Amino acid sequence: MNIRIGQGIDFHRLEKGLKLWLGGVNIPSETGCVAHSDGDVLIHAICDALLGGAGLRDIGYYFPDTDAEFKNIDSKILLKKTVGLIKEKGFSVINIDSTVCLENPKIGAFISEMRSTISEIVETDVDNVAIKATTTEKLGFTGREEGIVAIAVVLLSK
Ligand SMILES: [Zn+2]
Repeated sequence: MNIRIGQGIDFHRLEKGLKLWLGGVNIPSETGCVAHSDGDVLIHAICDALLGGAGLRDIGYYFPDTDAEFKNIDSKILLKKTVGLIKEKGFSVINIDSTVCLENPKIGAFISEMRSTISEIVETDVDNVAIKATTTEKLGFTGREEGIVAIAVVLLSK
């Protein structure tokens, strides 16, 4: 079996009054991500991991933030398009592991909805999609609630 690993990381600035989208789910929050798209940092990290594993380019290459087509786009659509790109190369997802790093809000209550949303789009069992949350113990830009980070690792088979 041809097995490939991929990793992705994404950062977004947080600002008051914007909607917070994570893993395809709208999470009640005072702040949301500043972005050309809906700013779903977790989905963006997963897209980059999928693309990397398949030996493709990055999310900015396929969905440039200079393109009006992607303005305020639902990142679930970007993930679906990304899955199409890796399928074209003959790849499917074995599993995804990911971590979201932010101080606030606490996202534990939304993890299962995020997992099922993502697993459906990438066409795998929900048990194959892990999402973890952590803080930086109030250190750095995430600790000051200025930004948010997501990291994802995927395993693909061909
Ligand atoms: Zn992003």
